[in-house]
Amino acid sequence: MRIEDELAEERELLSGENGSLKERAQVGNKKRKREVRSKLILLNSAIALIVIMSVLIFKVVSMNRDNGNRVRSASTTESDKSIQKKAKGEKKDGGAEATSTPLPTAVPASGKDRWLRKDLDKNKPMVALTFDDGPYTPVTDKILSVLKKHDQRATFFWVCNRIPRYKSSVKQAYEQGCQIASHTFEHVILTKLKKKKGILAQIDKANREVNKVIGCDTTALRPPGGVVNGKVKKTVKVPMICWNVDSEDWKSRNTKKILQRCKSVSDGDIILMHDLYPTTAKAVEKLVPQLKKKGFQMVTIDELFYYKGIDLKPGKVYFSGK
Ligand SMILES: [Zn+2]
Repeated sequence: MRIEDELAEERELLSGENGSLKERAQVGNKKRKREVRSKLILLNSAIALIVIMSVLIFKVVSMNRDNGNRVRSASTTESDKSIQKKAKGEKKDGGAEATSTPLPTAVPASGKDRWLRKDLDKNKPMVALTFDDGPYTPVTDKILSVLKKHDQRATFFWVCNRIPRYKSSVKQAYEQGCQIASHTFEHVILTKLKKKKGILAQIDKANREVNKVIGCDTTALRPPGGVVNGKVKKTVKVPMICWNVDSEDWKSRNTKKILQRCKSVSDGDIILMHDLYPTTAKAVEKLVPQLKKKGFQMVTIDELFYYKGIDLKPGKVYFSGK
C-alpha cells in the first residue's frame, strides 16, 4: 500500500466520530511503521551516497596515482635512455669512427667526364650506337628511355641549332651519361665552306649551344655527310668520328630492315642511326636488348676508344674502334 493511500485511510479512521480504541491503536501502529520505513529509506540513501562518494574518491585517487606512475616511469625511461646513449657514446669514442661520421657520397662526374666511365670491363665486346641530326624529343626521348631501361650509353651527334628547342632531351641524355657530340651548328657540309673562319664558326656556335645546357664543350665531331678534306682536318680541333655500320634508317624507315643492317655487329663497331624517325626508336627498342644478350656493352665514343687503347687526335677521322 502506498503512503498516500495509508494516510488517506488514517484520516478516514481518525475523522470517524465513532472510531473505537482498537481502531485508534491500529492507526498508531501504522504511524510507527511508516516512521521506521522512512528512517530506513533515509539510511539506505545515506549508505548509497557514501558508497558512491567512496567509489568516486577511490577512482580520483587511483587516477592520480597512475599518472604519477606514468610520469615517474617516463622519466625513468628517459634517464635510462640517456644512460644508454652515454654508454653508446663511450663505445663510439673508443670504437670505429665510421659509425659516427656519414659515409662519403660518390661525387657524380661532371662535364665530359660524365660520358667516360672508367669501370667497364675491357674484355667484353663493345659497340657504339650513334645518332645524328637530332635532337628531336619525340624520338630522342624514346631512345633515351630504352638506354636507361637497359643501363646502356650512346652518343648523340646533334645539329646544335636545334638544341634550344629540345633542351629537355639534351639534359636527359647528359644525365644518363650519354655523350653529347657535335654535328655542326646547322648541318653544313664543311668541305663546301671556303674559309677556315666559316668552319670554325659552325663548330664554335655549336659548342656554345651545348655549353649553355650542360656546361662543357663537345669532345667529338661528326662532319655532316661524313665528308672532310685537308682544310677541315687542319681546322677542326677535335677528333672526327664517322662509322663502319650504316643502319640506313633514314632510307628504309623500316624497323626490320634497320635491324637486319645491324645483324652482324662486332666488337668495336660504330653504328650510324638518326634520332629523327619513330622507326629508328622502335628498332633501338629491339636492338639494345639483342646486343646486350649477345654480351655487348653499349658505350660512348670516348669510352670505345679509351678501352680500345686508341688515342684520339684532333682533326683525324675515325671509322671504328677496331
Ligand atoms: Zn647528318
